[in-house]
Amino acid sequence: MTIKTPKNQFASDNYAGICPEAWQALQEADNGYATSYGDDPWTAKACDALRNFFETDCEVFFVFNGTAANSLALASLCQSYHSVICHETAHVETDECGASEFFSNGTKLLTVGGKDGKVDLTEVEHTVKKRTDIHYPKPQVLSITQTTELGTIYTPDELIAIHGLTKRLNLKLHMDGARFANAVASLQVHPKELTWRAGVDVLTFGGTKNGMPLGEAVVFFDKRLAAEFEYRCKQAGQLASKMRYLSAPWLGLLKEDAMLRHARHANACARKLADKISAFQGVKLVHPTEANAVFAEMPEKAITALRNKGWVFYTFIGSGHCRFMCSWATTEADINALENDLQEILG
Ligand SMILES: *Cc1c(COP(=O)(O)O)cnc(C)c1O
Repeated sequence: MTIKTPKNQFASDNYAGICPEAWQALQEADNGYATSYGDDPWTAKACDALRNFFETDCEVFFVFNGTAANSLALASLCQSYHSVICHETAHVETDECGASEFFSNGTKLLTVGGKDGKVDLTEVEHTVKKRTDIHYPKPQVLSITQTTELGTIYTPDELIAIHGLTKRLNLKLHMDGARFANAVASLQVHPKELTWRAGVDVLTFGGTKNGMPLGEAVVFFDKRLAAEFEYRCKQAGQLASKMRYLSAPWLGLLKEDAMLRHARHANACARKLADKISAFQGVKLVHPTEANAVFAEMPEKAITALRNKGWVFYTFIGSGHCRFMCSWATTEADINALENDLQEILG
């Protein structure tokens, strides 16, 4: 069997390898024996580095992937008869195989619409208020994604409005931050302004898509909600025995701004790519390029021709347009190569 290695790809930021800072931190942690299951110095330091990053005393857990981080976080906020409101394109709804419902023993996801991947607040309110009887799954959480699945960003003002609504409706607020670093880099604000200052109770903080080998952090800003969370992780098969290898890469990325530098790079690449491809006749951007994703409408023959030239990109996200995703590892040459091939196809 031959397995193709995609060279020409804008498929996902999880196609990229490990960034040098994460790699170095891993290597430094690979130093003799260490206590297992998280009682090691690297894990303690990584938790402190995250508290420092958010400028608050939060509770931090490291798990293997985003599906686990999201669904265990949501399960910790809910009883089985509750519901979680999220956007119809939310990863928890469309790409996690029902994990949130599974780990919460049946908590139902209720979806709302909204432009460019952001929840429409009127719809959220309607979903909460349309029924108050015992037969309806009781709304308990609003889950939002930052950056959104469609490459857009909730601004601090939008987050303040969301917080106002969740307070009024008595909802907890969960943020799926698989690409949280890209949002911080794009908005150039302190991470606290996008999280606990904006009422976020729990953040799923992505490491994988920003240069780590694997791993996400679950960050509880309301520490009471983290009660017994370690048991959920263990039961779900998410407690790493050699935890230092899951936690140490965070030290590398949180040191000297590496994470935000990589995120800024990925965002800048997307901006460049968006400008280049939207200059072609027949190519149209379908969502604002605010982070590291470019969504474009393209003639079917161009999509086929690009694929025939070996380009890998997704067309199943959101509205089914072409998604070009940049990462810390994207190069100028990658962008130029796509431009040149499009020039041949459409020029
Ligand atoms: C990638 C991603 C995740 C995490 O997915 P896993 O494959 O489970 O690690 C979660 N949310 C969003 C929005 C994502 O893009």
